[in-house]
Amino acid sequence: MTSIDNHQPRKRFGQNFLTDQSIIEQIVYHFHPKQGENIVEIGPGLGAITIPLLKAAEKMQAVELDRSLIPKIAAQCETIGDITIHQGDALKFDFTALGTTPIRLIGNLPYNISTPLIFHLIKQISSIHDMHFMLQKEMVDRICAQPGNKDYGRLSVMIQYHCTTQKLFTIPPSAFSPPPKVQSALVRLTPHKKIPHPAQDHEQLAEVVRIAFNQRRKTLRNSLKTLLDNTQFNNLEIDSNKRPEQLSVSDFVRLANAISTRA
Ligand code: SAM
Repeated sequence: MTSIDNHQPRKRFGQNFLTDQSIIEQIVYHFHPKQGENIVEIGPGLGAITIPLLKAAEKMQAVELDRSLIPKIAAQCETIGDITIHQGDALKFDFTALGTTPIRLIGNLPYNISTPLIFHLIKQISSIHDMHFMLQKEMVDRICAQPGNKDYGRLSVMIQYHCTTQKLFTIPPSAFSPPPKVQSALVRLTPHKKIPHPAQDHEQLAEVVRIAFNQRRKTLRNSLKTLLDNTQFNNLEIDSNKRPEQLSVSDFVRLANAISTRA
């Protein structure tokens, strides 16, 4: 059992500790830890998920920013299994250095770092087997949204370019202490073994997606006019009167590749 009695949760570290045992069990069930896997938890906190993970896997690693938590979690895990806790900022952490087999990442992430952290991890994606994250539900909806949906945007395109996304279940605020103001959800991100629609230049793809969704009410003809002309849209058979939320990931890749080829 974890206890938060002797730790004052720190807001600046986004500390909302999971306390609902049935939710913890569901998370571990969906993650399905096995011995021999290279499991890494981001932000173990007081060990709510670490302990059941370690019981199943016997060996794992974790990255925790809050120094004051490390001796507590180490003490809790001592008799359970072999855990290496790296003190550091996950936003700057080199996950490629954590062993030779691709890592299975899990974390109940602080909401304020979720987006930059996912983009940081995407840069290291060849070292990642899969990721299971508890995030703000609204963010999970945006990550998993399909074209035509109001939640479909930059986050959906850039993450789905690299990963298959799956929303697993919603978690109410009452599962945490202190309870956050919003609903959370567990999402599974599985990197594609082979990128289905590869961009010639990732920076170019990121740029087109950013510009298009910065002005999501505008037609592509208007928002992308400095990058593509009508002939190029016609050659690609993409209707320039469309708005960005109507384009698939592969459409964005085709736009980015047309710009890269012209440059
Ligand atoms: N896993 C625990 C649980 O579910 O109860 C704690 C989750 S709490 C939402 C977030 C955890 O991430 C805290 O332990 C916090 O100290 C840690 N954390 C916050 N920012 C971090 C960062 N940049 N890098 C690594 N850990 C961080």
